[in-house]
Amino acid sequence: MVSGRAKTDNNQQLIYVIQKHEASHLHYDLRLELDGILKSWALPKPPPLRAGEKRLAIEVEDHPLGYEKFEGIIPAGQYGAGRVEIWDKGYYQPVVRTDDKLEILISGEKLKGIYSLIRFQGKNQEDKKLWLFFKNKDQKKVC
Ligand code: MN
Repeated sequence: MVSGRAKTDNNQQLIYVIQKHEASHLHYDLRLELDGILKSWALPKPPPLRAGEKRLAIEVEDHPLGYEKFEGIIPAGQYGAGRVEIWDKGYYQPVVRTDDKLEILISGEKLKGIYSLIRFQGKNQEDKKLWLFFKNKDQKKVC
């Protein structure tokens, strides 16, 4: 059991983290706890702090729960070699969830408020890994 956090149907607090990853290309790994794993997206640009900043988010392989705590150096020669540090962390609550859209209330230290992840409507499998990540303009109340 992870640190006595509340976990009920109406008020789910799921893990949210963004790891800054200085691999061959600097990027930011957004990870969200979903169905017992960490769903992961790589952001080539810094995460959006304000509404109106749209970021590409590339879906990458799921990671196991627990990886949200990882900081350190992935050794040279291994996949993703380079420094990993936690850039932001906290919890989120799902607001809307479909196969192609996630709307979430993020309670992080840097990112706070309602954010959306929307999948591009591409023709081939590779396109389906592309999502848009942004802070909603309409910060509607979540109860
Ligand atoms: Mn990475």
